[in-house]
Amino acid sequence: MLNSATASVSTRALTILGATGSIGASTLDVARHLGIPIFALTAHRQARKLAELAIHSHAQVAVVSDPDAYAELKTALSGTGIEAAAGPDALVRVATNEQAQAVVTAIVGAAGLNATVAAVRAGKRVCIANKEPLVMAGGLIMAEAKAHGATILPIDSEHSAIFQCLEGHTADEVATLILTGSGGPLRTVADLGQVTREQALAHPTWSMGPKISIDSATLMNKSLEIIEARWLFGLPVERIRVLIHPQSVVHSMVSYRDGSVMAQLGRPDMRTPIQYALTWPRHEPGPVAAPDLAQLASLTFEEPDARRFPSLTMAYHAAQTGGLAPAVMNAANEMAVAAFLAGRSRFLDIFATVERALAAVQAVVDPTLDEIIAADAEVRARLGRI
Ligand code: NDP
Repeated sequence: MLNSATASVSTRALTILGATGSIGASTLDVARHLGIPIFALTAHRQARKLAELAIHSHAQVAVVSDPDAYAELKTALSGTGIEAAAGPDALVRVATNEQAQAVVTAIVGAAGLNATVAAVRAGKRVCIANKEPLVMAGGLIMAEAKAHGATILPIDSEHSAIFQCLEGHTADEVATLILTGSGGPLRTVADLGQVTREQALAHPTWSMGPKISIDSATLMNKSLEIIEARWLFGLPVERIRVLIHPQSVVHSMVSYRDGSVMAQLGRPDMRTPIQYALTWPRHEPGPVAAPDLAQLASLTFEEPDARRFPSLTMAYHAAQTGGLAPAVMNAANEMAVAAFLAGRSRFLDIFATVERALAAVQAVVDPTLDEIIAADAEVRARLGRI
């Protein structure tokens, strides 16, 4: 039994979309540890870094989504036997190629939508870190997964925790899903009007890419996660709540109707949920040790401050409005975060930008993927270079 299970893990070739980022690095480490062969790696523009990762991991194909980075990638891979490719179509090709049995989605933002949908339509094991496509088009993605026999597995630590706490149970047993969050670096900062880029990027417990780090500071990350959980687990957002848990040890919980609360604990290290998505339904030995519970002074929980961090209220509003609202919220947030990171706007402008975009959402019932993509583009065009 043990031998055959280990063999099935080690034969699963992998495509990593967004391999040069934070989740990409952790996924490569887990894949190395488990002996999972790499079929393809992708990046946006970091051609040299991508080439190094591809050579080191013996990948067959490396793709830059920005065609302008192709020449650099091609040169860096010359003589290695690794195929270089570029552009959005190449991204879709490696997400759907029959040699990739599993796809890890680790692109940041809406840019990952098309490749995620393509991997789902190709019936892959799709391990989702890139939550924004689920926020934008979760209903469509889950329906496509059902239609094409794809297995969607969460990588986000909160959703991995809930997924594990739900195993063997059905939705009608559940009272609420409880998403925990550290509260981010600004939980105790009195004046959010004066927050600098460096302060907002300095996450207290997790090491992540810049966009999700700012989302954690605004609690927009938790907001996106509420909508992500709604689609992954099929419960209305009214039954999904958020609790602040500064130690980041309890990664999320399920509260059952009989009063039992199930929790999943682990270190704040993304390699644990990434590994579970790759080895599910088994827990295999991995590179991360369990937390030393005796060394933890305390585990605390508190209500989030929705007055100081209004993104949570916006997420419930967007989810309840449905249609294009979650995609509009996501696009406005991506634009606002990019402007803050570039020093063109202030921290509190992020909330104001998203709020204004949500107030202008067009009512469209059950939008198609094209309508969602158009709404995303329209918000980006309208906000321009804020
Ligand atoms: P990073 O910014 O570290 O990495 C992003 C990756 O996406 C890079 O490989 C980047 O390539 C690529 N990329 C950027 N823009 C584009 C584009 N327009 N088209 C194609 N590829 C692009 O992000 P993270 O790893 O932090 O996050 C990735 C996703 O995972 C996000 O959706 C995030 O919310 C989610 N997530 C992250 C967690 C974390 O711990 N980091 C935890 C849970 C979820 P290049 O390097 O060339 O720019």
